[in-house]
Amino acid sequence: MILGPMCTVAVAAVAQAADGMTLVEARARIPQRELPAFWVGDLERVSALVAGLQRGQVTTIATTPGRRPMVLVAFGEREVVQHIANFNSAIGAREPAVYMDRAARKKPVILFVGPVHGQETEGLTGLCNLISVMETGRDLAGREQAQLRALGERCRLLIIPAGNPDGIARFEAKTVQGMSVDDVRFWGQGTYTDDKFCGWPGCKRQHPMVGDNVKFLGCYFNDAGVNPMHDEFFAPMGPEAPAILKVAMEEGPDLAVSLHSHESAPSVLRPAYLPMETQEAVRGLAESCYALLKERDLPHGGLPAADADRGNPPAPFNLTSAIYHISGATSFTFECPHGLADEKSCHVTLEQILDIQLTLYEAMMGWVLEGR
Ligand SMILES: [Zn+2]
Repeated sequence: MILGPMCTVAVAAVAQAADGMTLVEARARIPQRELPAFWVGDLERVSALVAGLQRGQVTTIATTPGRRPMVLVAFGEREVVQHIANFNSAIGAREPAVYMDRAARKKPVILFVGPVHGQETEGLTGLCNLISVMETGRDLAGREQAQLRALGERCRLLIIPAGNPDGIARFEAKTVQGMSVDDVRFWGQGTYTDDKFCGWPGCKRQHPMVGDNVKFLGCYFNDAGVNPMHDEFFAPMGPEAPAILKVAMEEGPDLAVSLHSHESAPSVLRPAYLPMETQEAVRGLAESCYALLKERDLPHGGLPAADADRGNPPAPFNLTSAIYHISGATSFTFECPHGLADEKSCHVTLEQILDIQLTLYEAMMGWVLEGR
């Protein structure tokens, strides 16, 4: 029902592929459409959802430079276990359990980090639907999700639906599904004063992204120009990444994901600077996730291969790496398709994007429960 008019817009957009865009042009490219009720592309929906929770426990964990709250929603009781050292000291003592005695917990703990890149609302939608499932048994499309909820009830779930509220607030399109990679370039990485795209990975060469040369600040960044995926974790520039890491440090999750989106099929990425055994665990998790996606006729990408970090330049140490190094969690990045209309993009509908997200969460819960 949505595809018809959107494809027309998208084809026109692809034909105009350019190296830059103005805000007026970017706004004109947003399709006129009513997004389905299950799609969550703005913070107002998140506030309304978390305000009404009875079962989920809501905590504000940070206030952004734009004065927006960043919330954590938890389901399942927190179990108090031995916790007498920070993670790296515990590893130094050769006793991981003195950081967090995970084996003494009855339930595994999973940390879901929603989009730190504001235009990647696929993860925001997914996590708000997961919150709805845990709260009511139904997703925001009104579908009963008994299996997912039953798995979730056997875990403690820590859900940060919006990892970068400022970036999400700047994302007027609410989704780029059916649009073009140029729209992602505009809304995601932003533009310089000559209206040229900052682009990827060029958007990372100036950080924080502030100064006279910045025109449209991309949704990658908070209002102070910080991209939480690449904050300076040892001397933080913004409040979002430290808040996420504090949750990880205090809770010692068994498993953690940072939700992102890209042009291609759903992919679990190799986490950089993690021990080979943890990287192999991520590969195992990817195998179960892809199997479940396949079973549901949903696309998936290639498996991540455990590897040493090497090359010039090597992979960056990012938020996903930092989550491991502060909590020992099996930590990984998931890339969901945006559902762009460009020829080589992974073509998925909004409904399929929701199902990809919920399938990932189910696979994560199943994997972590099986491992115990
Ligand atoms: Zn991203």
